[in-house]
Amino acid sequence: MTDKKSFQTALIHSDYAPPDGFAAFPAAIHHASTVLFKNVAAMRSRNWQDKTAYTYGLHGTPTTFTLEARLAQIEDGKHCLLAPSGLAAIAMIDFALLKSGDDVLIPENAYNPNRELGNWLTRDFGIAVRFYDPLIGAGIADLIRPNTRLIWTEAPGSVSMEVPDIPAICRAAHDKGALVAIDNTWSAGIAFRAFEHGVDIVMQALTKYQSGGSDVLMGAVITRDQALNHRIELAHMRLGFGVSVEDAYLVLRGLPTMKLRFDAHDAGARKVATWLKGRPEIATVLHPAFPDCPGHDHWKRDFSGAGGLFSVLFGERYSEAQTDRFIDHLKLFKIGFSWGGANSLCVPYRIQAMRNGWSGQGQLVRFNIGLEDPLDLIGDIEQALAVLQS
Ligand SMILES: *Cc1c(COP(=O)(O)O)cnc(C)c1O
Repeated sequence: MTDKKSFQTALIHSDYAPPDGFAAFPAAIHHASTVLFKNVAAMRSRNWQDKTAYTYGLHGTPTTFTLEARLAQIEDGKHCLLAPSGLAAIAMIDFALLKSGDDVLIPENAYNPNRELGNWLTRDFGIAVRFYDPLIGAGIADLIRPNTRLIWTEAPGSVSMEVPDIPAICRAAHDKGALVAIDNTWSAGIAFRAFEHGVDIVMQALTKYQSGGSDVLMGAVITRDQALNHRIELAHMRLGFGVSVEDAYLVLRGLPTMKLRFDAHDAGARKVATWLKGRPEIATVLHPAFPDCPGHDHWKRDFSGAGGLFSVLFGERYSEAQTDRFIDHLKLFKIGFSWGGANSLCVPYRIQAMRNGWSGQGQLVRFNIGLEDPLDLIGDIEQALAVLQS
């Protein structure tokens, strides 16, 4: 039969197989929509949920299974599901666990698209969403209602940097039967061991430190509990969340250097933040490792590092137009969202408009410290600050 195939069939049914015995460090990139079963019985007995075999590209290939297993291991979890972006991972958790009539609590300082999704759930899906003070700690017990299913946390909030008391929130939630999810992107799962502190569901934007290349969008949801993972897996299947295996490969490629990069971002950020703290133009440095950052004591108790992201508040005498000019004069720092790549970034936020009851009037500017020499970054900030005097 091998010799008899027509050219057209031979294009599809090639007899070539590469020799066995190839070995290399990287995981192979397995592209697949269709996954082949060895016979009908195998097809009929397929189980896409337990990941002991392959069923369809959307449910995973060896490449994505490998990435999921490594991410679960990094967080000290058991199960992991990939999503096409960090925000998709947030949405997958909400759609898996919430239904109309339920109540969900989201911190005031949450990643803004998480808030926006919450507002949509309220407006169009009959789910009550309430926003809470991120520093509420054990006081969250008073907000939990019988129908409160899920409490979102973010440690710290990625713009205003308050560090919440996660163990206290988890204790109160579990006393009343609510689940706690954390957006653990800031610490990459390195500086904050979420499950040890009581969290049920960890969400990561792999777009940041895991990729490290400013070139991939991907998210992950990690759990320890199998039943909980199955609920989220159903949402993953129903929403049809596939990820590109090329992108999964890029994230796998980033993982071996992630801790070294994270530590370098952390060291650089603390140098730059320390220098900024000594500057007369800056009223407050919002860096969790600094004592004047709200929730610093929680950071000191629960975290082992800080990464590259922090914010500052300029003195109230500087207008938005002035701080915008400062940012425009930066040369090494580029203007853009996200973090975790080699390049430093800077973005202004209208924090007074974003947050109910925000007290200060100073302009908030967020820095993402990349992997450049921190002294060069300080030099860049120093020359740009000069425009505030002119
Ligand atoms: C970037 C980010 C997300 C979303 O990730 P995307 O992949 O950009 O959708 C969620 N939470 C935090 C804290 C982030 O920084």
